[in-house]
Amino acid sequence: MRTTKYSLISIKFLILLLLGLFPSLKAQENQRKSPNFIIIFADDLGYGDLGVFGNPSINTPHLDRMAFEGQKWTNFYAAASVCTPSRAALLTGRLPVRSGMASNETRVLFPNSKNGLPSYEITLAEQLKKAGYTTAAIGKWHLGHKEEFLPTNNGFDSYFGIPYSNDMDRVDNTMDYWEFWRQPDDSIKTEYFNVPLLRDTKIIERPANQNTITKRYSEEAVNFVNNINEDPFFLYLAHNLPHIPLFASKDFLGKSKRGLYGDVVEEIDNGVGRIITALREQGLEENTIIVFTSDNGPWLPFENNGGSAGPLRAGKGTTWEGGVREPTIFWGPGLIQKGVVQDLGSTMDIFSTFSQLAGVAVPSDRIIDGIDLSETLLNGMPSTRKSVLYYRGTNLFAARLGDFKAHFITQGAYGAFGEREVHEPPLLFNLAFDAGEHFNIADKHPAIISEIRELVKEHQKNLVKGKDQLVDRE
Ligand code: MG
Repeated sequence: MRTTKYSLISIKFLILLLLGLFPSLKAQENQRKSPNFIIIFADDLGYGDLGVFGNPSINTPHLDRMAFEGQKWTNFYAAASVCTPSRAALLTGRLPVRSGMASNETRVLFPNSKNGLPSYEITLAEQLKKAGYTTAAIGKWHLGHKEEFLPTNNGFDSYFGIPYSNDMDRVDNTMDYWEFWRQPDDSIKTEYFNVPLLRDTKIIERPANQNTITKRYSEEAVNFVNNINEDPFFLYLAHNLPHIPLFASKDFLGKSKRGLYGDVVEEIDNGVGRIITALREQGLEENTIIVFTSDNGPWLPFENNGGSAGPLRAGKGTTWEGGVREPTIFWGPGLIQKGVVQDLGSTMDIFSTFSQLAGVAVPSDRIIDGIDLSETLLNGMPSTRKSVLYYRGTNLFAARLGDFKAHFITQGAYGAFGEREVHEPPLLFNLAFDAGEHFNIADKHPAIISEIRELVKEHQKNLVKGKDQLVDRE
């Protein structure tokens, strides 16, 4: 009798104890579970092309909302102003000059390029694989189209996309490149670009139908989210657009006040909304981080078919701010502290930050240029990044330290759009006062120039340039 009473009390106590403990255990378990990561990478989208970054005629409600619910970064940089080196830096956390994915002979990889990202480089996907992540790449790759260089040989479990730029493999090459682009928009057809669409390593469509490519990439991403198992995941969604040629599916064509370029950006925004809806429906939004950014600035010579750098100077191909500062948003309602971050960040930091959050050590056998931003993302602490290096090919053209940026060399986007100029003393701008780089204040701040020279010297001391992987063609 006594024993039974004792047992009943014990059971009751145990139940109460479990009830009390359960919510906190559950919370702890959620905290312990590695977060999911989604990188959405636009191509040639300018700093001024989203509503939340000030665009007056492109409607981007989903990205705007992401920014209000998450962190909007106003000084966030790509590591190069053109596709291939920028993507290499994003996925390896290293300046492309180190991996050989930058060249002074050619700026990006082409369909007849022999090489790609060297196998000894460690991608973010390979990092996250160490922690048991399911990984997928969707969209533009541009780090080598041969099988050995494709995403499935770089840490991704699957791939669906066009392996390089959507303006490549032009069917009729008799017309001059720039003359070709002066044709009216509606006479430029998707079949003029014989680009392949791959599923893993196999071509499943050629030419890829680009009218529906943005929509299909977003659908592929939604399907991935809807079918994910218990593992944490990393999804890399790299849209081919709004890089020219511009195409939108029929639901978006002709809808934006900003014309075809606006239609394209609005379709990308719609896809972002659909991915977030899928995360919510799967109950994953509290433990998923999305970062949205772009590989380089707007391709301005394309005029209305290129984007806008907003208040920034110049665009794609240059080391002016418009070439490399990107409209960047981190979103993750259960993880990311809300706010606007004016501190410095780089696409290379995503490598270090996501590695840290997944509990994977960053490689110690090589120089990693990325910096862990997790304290800023999770706790709103100041960013630990204090400087930015601006490369064109394998040459350092400019450097930023705090708010000040020194240009040692400047050059327009491509040969015809500006000659190369060496500046001695360098041009100096205070980017906090003068984001448009209009007012050279070098003569007022010799001490700051010395500090920036010191930073460059320190960086160059340990720099080993990788073998040029872009130059060899078939
Ligand atoms: Mg690009």
